Amino acid sequence: MPIKPTKLIWRNGEMIPWAQATTHIATHGLQYGTAVFEGMRAYETRHKGPAVFRNREHIERLLFSAKVYRIAINYSLDDLMAVCREIIRVNDLRAAYIRPVAFLGYGEMGPSAQNCPSEVAVMAWPLGAYLGDEALKKGIDVSVSSWRRLAPSTTPAGVKAAGNYLSSRLIGMEAKDQGFVEGIGLTHDGLVSEGAGENIFIVHKGRIITPPAAASILGGITRDTVITLARDSGIEVTEQSVPREMLYYADEVFLTGTAAEITPVRAIDRIEVGSGNRGRPVTSALQEKFFGLFTGKTEDKWGWLDPVG
Ligand code: PMP
Repeated sequence: MPIKPTKLIWRNGEMIPWAQATTHIATHGLQYGTAVFEGMRAYETRHKGPAVFRNREHIERLLFSAKVYRIAINYSLDDLMAVCREIIRVNDLRAAYIRPVAFLGYGEMGPSAQNCPSEVAVMAWPLGAYLGDEALKKGIDVSVSSWRRLAPSTTPAGVKAAGNYLSSRLIGMEAKDQGFVEGIGLTHDGLVSEGAGENIFIVHKGRIITPPAAASILGGITRDTVITLARDSGIEVTEQSVPREMLYYADEVFLTGTAAEITPVRAIDRIEVGSGNRGRPVTSALQEKFFGLFTGKTEDKWGWLDPVG
């Protein structure tokens, strides 16, 4: 994803020019990966103007991630939600990607250092379709990675920490080197986990199945959105272990994430998903409901849109 510099970044309580948002090389978060972050979107909605999508749930996850690694955040949920709206306003953004980050700063060396100050920052820049407009329509080709996801009781996969993305990098780079758009990670014991930066869903005989929290996944907010929208439409959703072969006999497969939104999978390991000519009725219906939230066609019964004002 290209970074498109904007005017201002919020850092530790103040707005500073983009170019001044630098940090010392001895920063703990850089040396040991002690950083937690969020990836959020603001949508330009037809009926409410620019709005942050599921602002609350993203900031809640940031606070939870920080708690696990003892990165003190001296701002409340409401404070940080307000910053996410403000960063859109001050930079005159409409559809944008928002990146809050909290990390241990400069102060001490050693992985269990207890006297590093923590820093919190929020930046944002314009963003459209992450995997391309075509990807949302035609689907992408993915492969199952030879790299396994983080095993339970190692570094927690359910925490959105910078260091977890070393696993994503290995999975994603292997896939790209082999000509695929994205890689799918299996758990340490060989079950389907998630994509390098997306959760995975399969559709089989009209029912939706997705791996559970214990399958070394990040509990995606888009995943929760899709589960909620599907159930609201009367489609059954089950969170259950998914053996690899299920990917090959699924009628439809799709990936979800803030950046990826709802991206259909065209083929896995070069095996075409479904029968090709029957379309993707469930994925298409969910895409329509999801994008309808931003045109007003889908009623936002859940209060997911937080207009920036
Ligand atoms: N899994 C991983 C590893 C991710 O990086 C992401 C993107 N944040 C997701 C799943 C999807 O999460 P969300 O829908 O909250 O963006």
